[in-house]
Amino acid sequence: MLYRQLGKTDLRVSEIGFGASPLGGVYHDFDPAEGERAVHAAIDQGINFFDVSPYYGSTLAEERLGRALEGRRNGILLATKCGRNGVAQFDFSAAAVEASVHASLARLRTSYVDLLQVHDVEFGSFEEIVQETLPCLRRLRQQGLARYLGITGYSLGMLGRIARATPVDTVLSYCHYNLMITDMDEVLTPELRAAGVGLINASPLHMGLLTEQGPPHWHPGPPPLRGLARRAVDLAAARGMSLSQLALRFSLDHPYVSTTLVGMATRQQVSSNLQALNQQRDPGLVTEIQQSLGSWFNFVWPSGLKENSDLPQELLS
Ligand code: NAD
Repeated sequence: MLYRQLGKTDLRVSEIGFGASPLGGVYHDFDPAEGERAVHAAIDQGINFFDVSPYYGSTLAEERLGRALEGRRNGILLATKCGRNGVAQFDFSAAAVEASVHASLARLRTSYVDLLQVHDVEFGSFEEIVQETLPCLRRLRQQGLARYLGITGYSLGMLGRIARATPVDTVLSYCHYNLMITDMDEVLTPELRAAGVGLINASPLHMGLLTEQGPPHWHPGPPPLRGLARRAVDLAAARGMSLSQLALRFSLDHPYVSTTLVGMATRQQVSSNLQALNQQRDPGLVTEIQQSLGSWFNFVWPSGLKENSDLPQELLS
């Protein structure tokens, strides 16, 4: 396992980070006790970066991760978020995020997080996040509740605008750099790299699309994209390879990203994902899969407020 500096912070994060949203039961039915064992297995095998949010499973993921980390917090780099509380529940006001952070710390059974992030910024107003949310998080940091601050979201344009307007230590982008899409590198990576802002890449499996079992029912990818993902599973299998490992390897090879967050809830998934570390690259198969996507390569779905979308306004109803 490689460890990389996260931007200009003093956090050295494992190249694979543990995405804890599946611990909230967000993806599939699972056994919470097995989830706890998966967290322990990940720590034992060198994963030191854990990402969660009060949104995942309506606080369940934080609760379960907090329980699993009890007695094992030392040496762990823990990230959580604020501002998003439900599918359509957002509150980026100072009062709400302050209360949210205190509640997160209680669930996580810790007195501070290493990284505190504004969750899914494209659902908020640029002005509120820059002028109210982030200044509030800076006060919480001064109080010792967080070591570093970041923003997360789907809209690359909005993430870049905020990072340009106000200092942030990290940016977490999801579903914009994996086997099916690489536009993060056109829009966001160059300016973050130039500014030394830490870049976290989430969802290397495109939120379950690039797995043998397939995506959850709520996945925003339209049917043709799902069909193409199934074909990719078959293309990989024909070469004796697991698509999820190939996809994770692809994201891990990014030249600037410090850590790739993959969602895990079982020891089997932890073990399978760690195998990607020793896997040889297969550029031929990667090209074949990306070419098989045709015009669906770099497909972007709508997310957030219309004015914050990366998509042309005329495409948004
Ligand atoms: P992902 O692409 O990591 O896919 C997760 C899905 O793949 C889950 O169903 C998981 O059970 C399955 N999976 C994992 N390893 C597997 C394996 N080896 N074989 C088969 N299936 C496997 O998507 P994600 O979980 O959404 O993203 C990773 C993490 O990044 C999240 O858990 C979260 O912590 C973070 N994230 C943050 C944001 C945000 O802040 N806005 C958005 C997306 C993700």
